[in-house]
Amino acid sequence: MKCFICNGNTTKTTSRYTIRDNNHFNTITIPCLKCEQCGECYIDGCTLQNIESIPPDQWDQKMLKEIQENPDCKEFVSSEDALKELGLYNSH
Ligand SMILES: [Zn+2]
Repeated sequence: MKCFICNGNTTKTTSRYTIRDNNHFNTITIPCLKCEQCGECYIDGCTLQNIESIPPDQWDQKMLKEIQENPDCKEFVSSEDALKELGLYNSH
């Protein structure tokens, strides 16, 4: 795919993120596409759906329900937006 921001080429890579699980913080590696030009990362919606190791809180369940009701696995979202939605923090 092309970068949404600068239309540059993207390559498959992984990013490390920190998940907040109540009072615990876990580091996970998520596959993503990274723009070679501006460095923006994109995460597949399916990848987000597969992050199930976290016991979802009420807010997470609402989000998961929305994903299930709108299965748009082909759509890539900005990792910044996606992680904000998930309550994840980039650990770079
Ligand atoms: Zn770019």
